[in-house]
Amino acid sequence: MEISANAQALAYLVSAVLFILGLKGLTHPASARKGNFFGMAGMAIAIGATLLGSEVQSYGFIIAGVAAGAVIGSVLAARVQMTAMPQLVAALHSFVGMAAVLVALGTYLNKAQAGLLNPVLMGELSAGIVIGAITFSGSVIAFGKLQGLISGAPVIFKGQHALNAVLGLITVGLAVVFATTEASWALVLMTLLAFVLGFTLIIPIGGADMPVIISMLNSYSGWAAAATGFTLGNNLLIIVGALVGFSGAILSYIMCRAMNRSIINVVFGGFGGDSEGGPSALAQAAEKGVKAASVEDAIYWMEDANRVIIVPGYGMAVAQAQHALKELMELLEEHGVEVKFAIHPVAGRMPGHMNVLLAEADIPYDHVLEMDEINPEFATTDVVLVVGANDVTNPAAKTDPSSPIYGMPILDVAKARNIYVIKRSMRPGYSGVENLLYYQDNCSLIFGDAKDVCEGLVTALKGGGH
Ligand code: NDP
Repeated sequence: MEISANAQALAYLVSAVLFILGLKGLTHPASARKGNFFGMAGMAIAIGATLLGSEVQSYGFIIAGVAAGAVIGSVLAARVQMTAMPQLVAALHSFVGMAAVLVALGTYLNKAQAGLLNPVLMGELSAGIVIGAITFSGSVIAFGKLQGLISGAPVIFKGQHALNAVLGLITVGLAVVFATTEASWALVLMTLLAFVLGFTLIIPIGGADMPVIISMLNSYSGWAAAATGFTLGNNLLIIVGALVGFSGAILSYIMCRAMNRSIINVVFGGFGGDSEGGPSALAQAAEKGVKAASVEDAIYWMEDANRVIIVPGYGMAVAQAQHALKELMELLEEHGVEVKFAIHPVAGRMPGHMNVLLAEADIPYDHVLEMDEINPEFATTDVVLVVGANDVTNPAAKTDPSSPIYGMPILDVAKARNIYVIKRSMRPGYSGVENLLYYQDNCSLIFGDAKDVCEGLVTALKGGGH
């Protein structure tokens, strides 16, 4: 069966609408499942309409490719740990980048043979190849850093920005030569340089900044797909590429804003240096020392509280403490305690990290509040339990202008009556900045692995507390 070009265009329009509805659904956990469904339906229609189009001449290779991809994809998705999600996403982006490069090269060879090259097409091909190649090698480096295959530390060398600028300019120059002269040596050099550029752009960036970079690479992969869409004359690919390109860019912007950093600072700058100025608030606070508490101490206050707010962070993800927290929530509610979860936009190591983990543990969405909603409630809350979160609770962001994180929006945990923080040591969080919260009179630390401590809290509460 073959469908007409008009029928295909109509199917593509329906797909595009479904993709937009999918993105809309993904903006809230409660509608995310529906959003995913719209996305999958849109993709099924898009693939179906493409396969039934007049361009497809044989199905053998397509079926083999789809089958192999489906098997590998299903196994990977079933086996991946939540904490390894960023590197899986990085690996998938590298495929998009490579696909854009290969489609552009294939199109070039086809059209060159048929004598159908023209400057506009050559420009589109160049854009697809350059963006695709940068996305590919950049994503491979991001994957390597996140997977621990290469050092996550920023690899910084002298003249690095100058080198990137020169490489970038030469690549653009070669693209112009290629588009105007059809010289294949320019094509080969441009492709190789773009691969090198992806490498030199991403290698200096620290492992912990990778989520922002991945979101940027996601955006690049969208633009690479859009360029491929122009090359192939496929409207749906242009629309989808633009959706991915813009949503990746917006997400990168939101993440940078929540960390109070500019995208330029993430891409080119280091983070977590020493704070400047005279004796800092931290030095004064450090003299007071830190209080250590036991699970029994915490339960003593929690079971009689009116409200307990739980603040999850990266440590909860590492320890996989979300299921123990769900049990703690249920037990506290049985004691008549109101329990809420407070989510900072960049808690954890990727956007929505905490929401996904809490949803996995079946914690109801109405218990999970975003920073702006929950912040006014801390001042009237009896107990806050911080579970492996650090930077997102550091009052220095508001009170110490010399702190590197000054200006970053934070959860107002410091204002609560009693604060218990679960972590394993006095090591700082991702930003490398010490947390002033720990030195407050109303704050105590429960040292230990988040899962062990949360299970300990559950046992203590079951044991009847006091
Ligand atoms: P942080 O990295 O600030 O702190 C995590 C804390 O968890 C550490 O203090 C660590 O202390 C503790 N921890 C680690 N493992 C365990 C464990 N098994 N049990 C108990 N505690 C543990 O994380 P936050 O979530 O508070 O903040 C996120 C940070 O990451 C922010 O600085 C943000 O800017 C940054 N970031 C976030 C991105 C995102 O998209 N969400 C992207 C890029 C960066 P200890 O070692 O002592 O146990």
